[in-house]
Amino acid sequence: MARYTGAVCRLCRREGAKLFLKGDRCYSDKCSFVKQGYAPGQHGQSRKKVSEYGIQLREKQKARRIYGVLEKQFSNYFDKAERQKGVTGENLLRLLERRLDNVVYRLGFANSRTEARQLVRHGHFTVNGRKVNIPSYQVRVGEEISVSEKSRKSPKIQEISELAAHKTVPAWLELDKEQLSGKVVSIPNREDIDAPIAEHLIVELYSR
Ligand code: SF4
Repeated sequence: MARYTGAVCRLCRREGAKLFLKGDRCYSDKCSFVKQGYAPGQHGQSRKKVSEYGIQLREKQKARRIYGVLEKQFSNYFDKAERQKGVTGENLLRLLERRLDNVVYRLGFANSRTEARQLVRHGHFTVNGRKVNIPSYQVRVGEEISVSEKSRKSPKIQEISELAAHKTVPAWLELDKEQLSGKVVSIPNREDIDAPIAEHLIVELYSR
């Protein structure tokens, strides 16, 4: 399955915002965006006038990068969001938010979405008791996401359980810290999604 494999801190610098792609490092002094808060490359520090299209494009790229989704997949999410009832931009964010890798991250079972994606790919999680190793799997209301029985003894998962014990989860999810599992209790509302994305700009971009 394709994914971005380049330097991730460059992405934050390109988008002019912290995208929190590296877990703990993002909250420390080592964050590249804190040290070099300008765009990468030779002309990164020059001032440029950004067009309306440029602003919309950057917002779409930012959303894509936060959730770790490639171009084609993102455009598929948008098509699906457009076909659903309601506000397209909000539908889009809900689809991204309900990806299994994002839910694992939101439940506190990983430091970043990238780590969550890797853990899912390696088969460490089950959904309603069945192993699911597809990061893009869309969770539904009522489904239970758990650390698989086999994985509970691994040092990585032990580390995760300590991590999860200190996390607070969004209102649409319920975490059982003892059982190392979480439940989807509702579809996320817009206010439950704290990713700094102006989704109307993405809708404007795709409506051109
Ligand atoms: Fe972005 Fe985190 Fe790298 Fe800072 S450390 S630039 S927030 S990915």
